[in-house]
Amino acid sequence: MSPWRHHFPLLRARDAVAYLDNAATSQKPQVVLDAMHSHYREFNANVHRATHQLGADATEMFERARATVARHIGNRKPNEVVWTRGTTESINLVANCLVPSLGPERDIVVTTMEHHSNLVPWHMAAERTGATVRAVPLTASGELDMVALARNVSDRTCVVAVAHVSNVLGIVNPVRDIADITQAHGALLLVDGAQAVPHLCVDVTGLGCDFYAFSSHKAYGPTGTGVLWGREELLETLGPWQGGGEMIETVRLDGFTPQAPPYRFEAGTPHIAGAIGLGAALEFLESLDREEVLAYESRLTDLLRTRLDELGGVQLVGSATSNIPIVSFNLEGVHHSDIGTILDQQGVAVRTGHHCAQPLMTSLDLPGCVRASLSLYNDDSDVEKLVKGLGVARDLLL
Ligand code: PMP
Repeated sequence: MSPWRHHFPLLRARDAVAYLDNAATSQKPQVVLDAMHSHYREFNANVHRATHQLGADATEMFERARATVARHIGNRKPNEVVWTRGTTESINLVANCLVPSLGPERDIVVTTMEHHSNLVPWHMAAERTGATVRAVPLTASGELDMVALARNVSDRTCVVAVAHVSNVLGIVNPVRDIADITQAHGALLLVDGAQAVPHLCVDVTGLGCDFYAFSSHKAYGPTGTGVLWGREELLETLGPWQGGGEMIETVRLDGFTPQAPPYRFEAGTPHIAGAIGLGAALEFLESLDREEVLAYESRLTDLLRTRLDELGGVQLVGSATSNIPIVSFNLEGVHHSDIGTILDQQGVAVRTGHHCAQPLMTSLDLPGCVRASLSLYNDDSDVEKLVKGLGVARDLLL
């Protein structure tokens, strides 16, 4: 039994389910539910503009959550943390704000393993500006081809956008090395940390990136909230991307003056309870021994790989491995979506399909696959349920 499982009320209520779809979204610990509940019960008011005490209290909690995020990702300044709806919106924000720096002479470098959230915003920016999107392929063993990356990044490159951890392969990309190559050409580096923050201790300074995007809901926080971290001096050079209240210093009938970052990027009333919930989620993570958690997740991942190997007929997607608990595979002769359906009937929740990574699937010549993604609250019995379910699926379908 996982030592952390008791923190998650849903898992107590749905004890029979082996929830192995954590890369899609995680379950929420009691402390996150309590923090959000307490906001609505005791502190609910709009932030920043109120003249009353309730508004001041709500603002204090909201800004405290921003400071928690800043501390959590490497002791950075709170004004480098922009609230967004999630990773997707964070990347769209950067792609939109970089449009003035793009043009037919500029490149945007991405990788074949990117989630659609780290591809489509760049395609859209390229369509608007005539810039070229260049994709770095993977090696035969399914890792990022660093030689090809060095070849693709040039003085034409405006931005390199890369996942910290792949949502399909579970591998950790060498962000520090990518940053060195990127910086040597004066380009910017955006890291999609959606799958990293739930598992790794992230230090954006050590990584050497310029922007870091992640979603609250995959890291034990609520949906509808996310973060864009950006270097202070860089955020100051970028324009607003959405207009409205909150993001302005002054408004005239003939124009407006935007606020300083991060507020410049936060038009309209934010998801106040969401930010507070994410703050509580990160404090929850910080209250744990992260090394112990990673070692636990890593052991479970090894167990899963061993048990899949023993089952036979399992083709793992990508041969490179890491200690991140994301394992994708196919069962010989069986369609991935049929496996998902049969597993669901047996109380095992996995994800099947292209996992919002169609270019990766195309490059691997796969129509899709099954993904089992584990979390700190899973345990050996969840792995055994999955393996048993796969056996049943095979008996039924072959
Ligand atoms: N990037 C990666 C690597 C992801 O795994 C995901 C979510 N599956 C996203 C981006 C998008 O996150 P969100 O939908 O929370 O914006």
